[in-house]
Amino acid sequence: MGYSAFRIFREGIAGNKGWKPVWRDAAPKSRYDTVIIGGGGHGLATAYYLAKEFGVTDVAVLEKGWLGSGNVGRNTTIIRSNYLLPGNQPFYEFSMKLWENLEQELNYNAMVSQRSVLNLFHSDSQRDAFARRANAMLMSGADAELLDVKELRRLCPWLNYDNARFPIQGGLIQKRGGTARHDAVAWGYARGADRLGVDVIQNCEVTGIDIENGICTGVQTNRGPILANKVAMCAAGSSGRVAALAGMRLPIESHVLQAFVSEGLKPVLPGVITFGAGHFYVSQSDKGGLVFGGDIDGYNSYAQRGNLPTVEDVCEGGMAVMPMIGRARLLRMWGGVVDMSMDGSPFIDRTHIDGLYLNAGWCYGGFKATPASGYCYAHLLATDRPHEVAKEYRIDRFLRGAPIDEKGQGAQPNLH
Ligand SMILES: Cc1cc2nc3c(=O)[nH]c(=O)nc-3n(C[C@H](O)[C@H](O)[C@H](O)COP(=O)(O)OP(=O)(O)OC[C@H]3O[C@@H](n4cnc5c(N)ncnc54)[C@H](O)[C@@H]3O)c2cc1C
Repeated sequence: MGYSAFRIFREGIAGNKGWKPVWRDAAPKSRYDTVIIGGGGHGLATAYYLAKEFGVTDVAVLEKGWLGSGNVGRNTTIIRSNYLLPGNQPFYEFSMKLWENLEQELNYNAMVSQRSVLNLFHSDSQRDAFARRANAMLMSGADAELLDVKELRRLCPWLNYDNARFPIQGGLIQKRGGTARHDAVAWGYARGADRLGVDVIQNCEVTGIDIENGICTGVQTNRGPILANKVAMCAAGSSGRVAALAGMRLPIESHVLQAFVSEGLKPVLPGVITFGAGHFYVSQSDKGGLVFGGDIDGYNSYAQRGNLPTVEDVCEGGMAVMPMIGRARLLRMWGGVVDMSMDGSPFIDRTHIDGLYLNAGWCYGGFKATPASGYCYAHLLATDRPHEVAKEYRIDRFLRGAPIDEKGQGAQPNLH
């Protein structure tokens, strides 16, 4: 079923009785060409691009819960391509370009809103670092501008410019950055993949990965065994547990990241704003709520809920940069499990087991990567070669001494 303004009008006058389910409730078959473990944004996008770009339609996406139950439905929805390192920047810019055409391509309203992402800086050295990053962005074809305090005061008069400890000196703005409706991205890709013949199977947990003579032959699930030529792991925060089913130990730790939403306010924030002297990022949803977050809780966990000290820390960051946030009531908060890699960068790679592939390590920045991750993973699965913009995301980069440490924190997953 195609969506259009005319369709909404027609359904409206006909009592909205003609809408069809957005995807089929497929039952697992005994064999597929490709089985994708995890029906988050990345798994669904992979299935969609496999079918659309590479003609591989004999595909199943196996999701242990419901679509959107993982991080794709829990994140703070920020999309951007303001990276510095050559291993990252072209990939995220490729993703940004896919975002820009996503809704037309999927015929689905994912509420992609390029309302800008503004990174504030608070010292001379930070300004220099941001200028360097802006140049890297421009060189990969992305957009970037440095704003001075005068321009910022016009844009956001309510920021705390004269904070004695962290006075705001300016900002790096990417006007093409912004937000997208997180779960609608999952639903849009699910619908797109389903329309191309992919089986999207919910409540189907992978409990084992079958390996014979070094070759992956399929998976065991709570709904029976499934044979497959290729098995693609795509389980984000559960990557370590899924890889363990194949006897693999990943350079990844799972951590909790929390998100927060305030009561609805009149429009006040022009776009996404990040505090440069602490970890705090905020945007405003179309319903008016301030959507914000900060650091991970900082210890290993698979629990989808966080702790009060981090709530306090995030709110302190908010108060330091925009004191008016203290007048808003906190409405909701939740946690998600993020797959923090040793250098803060992801993996899209084959494994040492033939037919078994890995997509993981997205830390707390994988939502913006969803389109490119799906595209590049599909490219790898279909051709057995890495896509040009994802060729640095190999798992052997630590052995080669080529980590992609965007933050320069070293092998410290909880600091990336
Ligand atoms: C609070 C929070 C805020 C964030 N904010 C941002 C942001 O603003 N911008 C940004 O770019 N990124 C952000 N992220 C990160 C981003 O959400 C993730 O990196 C990204 O969603 C991970 O990919 P995914 O969508 O495929 O993951 P998920 O949606 O978690 O998908 C993985 C799926 O695998 C399933 N699964 C696990 N084990 C099995 C199994 N054995 N069998 C079958 N299925 C299984 C899970 O149920 C899950 O649905 C945030 C994350 C959190 C938690």
